[in-house]
Amino acid sequence: MDQNAQNQTWLNRSLAAVWHPCTQMKRHETLPLIPIARGDGVWLYDMDGHRYLDAVSSWWVNLFGHNQPRIKAAITAQMDQLEHVMLAGFTHQPVVELSEQLAELTGLGHAFYGSDGASATEIALKMAAHYWRNLGLPEKNRFIYLQDSYHGETMGALSVTDVPIFRTAYAPLVRENFAVQSPDSRQAQGEQTAEDVALCALQDLERVLTAHHSEIAALIVEPLVQGAAGMAMYHPIYLAQARILCDQYNVLLIADEIAVGFGRTGTMFACEQAGIKPDLLCLSKGITGGYLPLAAVLCSEAVYTAFYADETAKAFLHSHSYTGNALACAAALATLAIFKDDDVIAVNREKSARFSEIFAPLAQHPRIQNWRQCGMIWAFEISDVSPNFATECFVAALKEEILLRPIGNTLYFMPPYTMTDAEAQFLLAGTLNALEKCW
Ligand SMILES: *Cc1c(COP(=O)(O)O)cnc(C)c1O
Repeated sequence: MDQNAQNQTWLNRSLAAVWHPCTQMKRHETLPLIPIARGDGVWLYDMDGHRYLDAVSSWWVNLFGHNQPRIKAAITAQMDQLEHVMLAGFTHQPVVELSEQLAELTGLGHAFYGSDGASATEIALKMAAHYWRNLGLPEKNRFIYLQDSYHGETMGALSVTDVPIFRTAYAPLVRENFAVQSPDSRQAQGEQTAEDVALCALQDLERVLTAHHSEIAALIVEPLVQGAAGMAMYHPIYLAQARILCDQYNVLLIADEIAVGFGRTGTMFACEQAGIKPDLLCLSKGITGGYLPLAAVLCSEAVYTAFYADETAKAFLHSHSYTGNALACAAALATLAIFKDDDVIAVNREKSARFSEIFAPLAQHPRIQNWRQCGMIWAFEISDVSPNFATECFVAALKEEILLRPIGNTLYFMPPYTMTDAEAQFLLAGTLNALEKCW
């Protein structure tokens, strides 16, 4: 069989055997799947040897490129020691070291582990409600979330997620919570600044808190950038003031840094830019550099203490089989070591400024609106495009050797931090060419 026929076979076998995520499978009658053979740095290589610049970090998980030697070596070394042991009643070196390091980085503690981001959201929501129950306030069991929020797609997470395509079909299964106005700075009208929009959104938050605080366990937010909303960015004053309001109304603050943590917004964690600490912090995605599924929820001492008692029922009786998986923890430790050894946050600060200069022709383009940047995220909207723009742009970008995945008419770059200036130039040129074909 020639290479082409062989690849066709892989595609057909995949369509026959695999239910691909977030996909109307029938569309693959016309839109081909891409069989990826290997990755290296920012590049993914398909079975024909075509390459694609991974400008979305493989759904926002990859930080230091594919085939990263240090993470690979750490997983391999761990494999020779211990691959996995149940974490109830047992512990191991990688999980202890990772928990200590995460505590030092966040000022929170007692890391509780899950696998994917959605499991971190579930853990945080359950922990918040159970916290109030342990304090004798079981009626505080609802949540406030921002409009256009995304916190994952399991049922608890969906109850605080406001993206219709993910939620509508399952609405009857999902408990009602309280949505409040998003501080999304794209809403600014006329003379309004991003800060004005944030202050206005805070009034809506205070209105809901005033009316319902006695039944509210927590406010959950994606700090600084609402990713699935189309990289909606907002002013840090929202977080600073929301922290004050939560304290005032006896409501916990959950920061979902699943997408924005680990340097994506320019600081190690986005909350740092508002000078606040949440009560519960959700981490996943970049935590293992994109190598293995791992999620963690860190909490304040007050939360932890509320569960520490003689009664079993006061404990957080939640578990996943792979909680604290040793290989995933080893990958996370290697990821944190890269941050430290390579001074990633400082290096990225200069890098993102350089990339912004490289991308300037997009910022100035007449068809482009709301050009924005936060750390290692760049995003913009394109006006007057067809309803199929996202797919058309995805296909046109692949022809330019670029993996882009627009959200509606929002295009964004969220590349691995290791992208070079030359690769950024390549990304710019290819994006402009792709846009020429689909706008
Ligand atoms: C991706 C994401 C999640 C869900 O993580 P999964 O690993 O896909 O379950 C939750 N919150 C935010 C902000 C995310 O970006």
